[in-house]
Amino acid sequence: MAKPVILAVDDDREVLQAVARDLRSKYGEQYRILRANSGEEAIEALRELRVADEPVALLLVDQRMPGITGVQFLEQAIEHYPKARRVLLTAYADTEAAIRAINEVHIDYYLLKPWDPPETQLYPVLDDLLDDWMANYRPPTTGVRLIGHRWSPDTHRARDFLARNQVPYRWSDLDSDPEAAELLRATGLQQPALPVLILTDGTTLEAPSNDTIAGNLGMQSPPELPLYDLVVIGAGPAGLAAAVYGASEGLGTVLIEADAAGGQAGTSSLIENYLGFPSGLSGADLARRALTQARRFGAEFLLTREVTSLEPREGSTTLNLSDGTSVSALSVIIATGVTYRRLEAPGCDQLMGRGIYYGAASSVAESVKNEDVFIVGGANSAGQAAVHFAKSARSVTMIVRGASLSASMSHYLIDRIAELENVTVLCETQVERAVGSERLEALELRNSRTGELTTTPATTLFVFVGATPRTDWLGTSVMRDQHGFVLTGRDLMTDNKPPAGWLLDRPPLLLETSAPGVFAAGDVRYGSGKRVAAAVGEGSMSVMLVWEYRASLGL
Ligand SMILES: Cc1cc2nc3c(=O)[nH]c(=O)nc-3n(C[C@H](O)[C@H](O)[C@H](O)COP(=O)(O)OP(=O)(O)OC[C@H]3O[C@@H](n4cnc5c(N)ncnc54)[C@H](O)[C@@H]3O)c2cc1C
Repeated sequence: MAKPVILAVDDDREVLQAVARDLRSKYGEQYRILRANSGEEAIEALRELRVADEPVALLLVDQRMPGITGVQFLEQAIEHYPKARRVLLTAYADTEAAIRAINEVHIDYYLLKPWDPPETQLYPVLDDLLDDWMANYRPPTTGVRLIGHRWSPDTHRARDFLARNQVPYRWSDLDSDPEAAELLRATGLQQPALPVLILTDGTTLEAPSNDTIAGNLGMQSPPELPLYDLVVIGAGPAGLAAAVYGASEGLGTVLIEADAAGGQAGTSSLIENYLGFPSGLSGADLARRALTQARRFGAEFLLTREVTSLEPREGSTTLNLSDGTSVSALSVIIATGVTYRRLEAPGCDQLMGRGIYYGAASSVAESVKNEDVFIVGGANSAGQAAVHFAKSARSVTMIVRGASLSASMSHYLIDRIAELENVTVLCETQVERAVGSERLEALELRNSRTGELTTTPATTLFVFVGATPRTDWLGTSVMRDQHGFVLTGRDLMTDNKPPAGWLLDRPPLLLETSAPGVFAAGDVRYGSGKRVAAAVGEGSMSVMLVWEYRASLGL
């Protein structure tokens, strides 16, 4: 298999030689380093690589060149290799152009010349970008394979699970790919239940549950300790931050996740407002980075296991898990976030996974090329999805209940949407009914101001209509508000008095629940910020409070 390519472009031969030398010495084993002396030569090289179907991982290009500039080259390069990482080499005087290019051609980074020493000025940036690229790269013949029907809810679930857990897999759609049927016949299975998952050793699994997939891919392992310093429940941004800080500060930490690391943020196509990532980063990248970081510090992960109940005991807390096992800890951080609210219109439940999806499932995103996509919701998550799908779909229609987007969406996204010619926003509109038997065929939409009802053909609808906390499993073990959000700190106090049953002579700490030593962080907490940065902040702060709790016990 051909090595992925890194292409360096500069008109100054000496500089080009130096870049190529530095690239080769660090990346030469894994990547093929190519160079071009001008933008025109580089475009021709990319065209040839495309024809030969060779992967390109990274483009490192000088901004100031005679003929086409670096930014102009990258604009054209996107057509051939939209997923290649793009880095602009600039002189200090060109930084304005480079910052503009972040928006215009979505460059991932700009580097100032000279980049000496490469160990600190060049490699850390490129390592990061190449890791990102590699995480999404699917070599043509490796990994597990999944065969199924695009419109089947079971297939959708399996694809979503694999994608969100960042398992590389090849998807074969029986509805559109003749090779899929051949491959299925080749398995020798007689009328198999779909989807069929083919593992790398040839083992086939028929209609596997997420649990079975996880078990067969070696994603599940038993807890290593009988008693942990800290158990974190939920691997969204809050839980991942708690695991990073807990483990890095020497607490024996285990993180338990029911579904896939990343939580809601993991389903976001591009998070643009998280500090330190001026070009934005996808939720999947954020999750992968955080998971790697927590593992590096020694946090243990129990993936695809749901916590079903919490029992505060004298001096520790026991958590019972969906596989019948249990884990105990001195401190617990609840970071179980929220889950999408269902669209209540008739027909929606039956067509879930058959054209109607909750959140912008990354597994479906690639299938909507040249299709007409509908999105319900007017908040940032819906706006992000609209911008994301507008790149590949023929048209995107946003169905918004309010009179405008301004009450519910950030300004930068409203501006971005206004610039997109293939996005239409229908305000004061609601889905009245979803129509279809095997799959979504049409939507009945009602204009709430005029009362007019229209029926529009539709195959794909993404729903973003708010969320409810994932806390039913807590029962009465900790206090919650009437919507189910977990109460902490001052919100537990009435007339300066702690809640009934609170036996300590101190009030609950800032993020502490009504059970001493049990904390809540992120979206699940009453009054939280409902943002990635807020969740990360609370996740890390809760670890500080765990230390305070331990100190109060004399530990
Ligand atoms: C599509 C989308 C786009 C978004 N974009 C942005 C953005 O651009 N910027 C921004 O700031 N915010 C954004 N948000 C909001 C942001 O993602 C959330 O505020 C953030 O993810 C909250 O993090 P959390 O860790 O509190 O909870 P979550 O992300 O909800 O994670 C909770 C985790 O807990 C797990 N879990 C739940 N119950 C259990 C259980 N019983 N046992 C074990 N595990 C359990 C879940 O599977 C999940 O992985 C977006 C949200 C969505 C849906």
